Amino acid sequence: MNEQTLSMRLEHVAAHVPAGARLADIGSDHGYLPVALMRRGAITAAVAGEVAETPFRSAERTVRENDLDQWITVRRADGLAAIEPRDGITAISICGMGGETIRDILDNGKARLNGQERLILQPNGGEQPLRQWLMENAYQILVEEVLRENRFDYEIIVAERTGPVTYTAEELYFGPLQMQARSPAFLDKWQRLLRQKQKTLAQFTRARQAVPMEKAQDIARQARWISELLA
Ligand code: SAM
Repeated sequence: MNEQTLSMRLEHVAAHVPAGARLADIGSDHGYLPVALMRRGAITAAVAGEVAETPFRSAERTVRENDLDQWITVRRADGLAAIEPRDGITAISICGMGGETIRDILDNGKARLNGQERLILQPNGGEQPLRQWLMENAYQILVEEVLRENRFDYEIIVAERTGPVTYTAEELYFGPLQMQARSPAFLDKWQRLLRQKQKTLAQFTRARQAVPMEKAQDIARQARWISELLA
């Protein structure tokens, strides 16, 4: 993967960035996503935000080597602190991190959001707490995708602030749109997870030490929801 050939995962993320956007890519690492989009003329400008020194330098290098310093600003910052009002950001991508981390980045940086930005989020696990945050902050989920690459399941969640929205507990767990669409990748993912949960429950049964009742009940509930979904 590089700034010319994105991974399938980032290519799918790229497809949800509106044409002509001013993109903030938070946790940009190498900066491949904004640089690829800028090279293609798909966006107008970008900010690549990175909290850590090595990836920050790597993003700077990618931008410099592609002669894009005029259009892409690389900032070393924690989360949405990379965004300044003068950037006029219209879309924010936060990809390749746990859903809880993405949620915390959004929550800690709430003051930097003007509510007009499209959020393109690609959590690696922890989708449920992320969707919960979106609901609690009046973001509607517009698009959801599950895809598999290199034996990992990835989810993409696209959301915009539209006003109050309510999702059921199951919708927060599976994804409201994915539950409806039931794509092959989505069903495969949940079949795999059901096997995992059943294995865990069987281990609990065999375990000599008592497993906290709450934990066992929680996993049993998840296994029941998944079985019902797949039925
Ligand atoms: N977004 C790229 C992708 O999807 O390929 C890189 C993903 S990489 C696994 C996660 C990056 O997020 C790391 O470079 C890490 O330093 C950065 N990161 C984690 N927490 C961050 C935060 N609070 N603010 C900015 N960057 C963060």
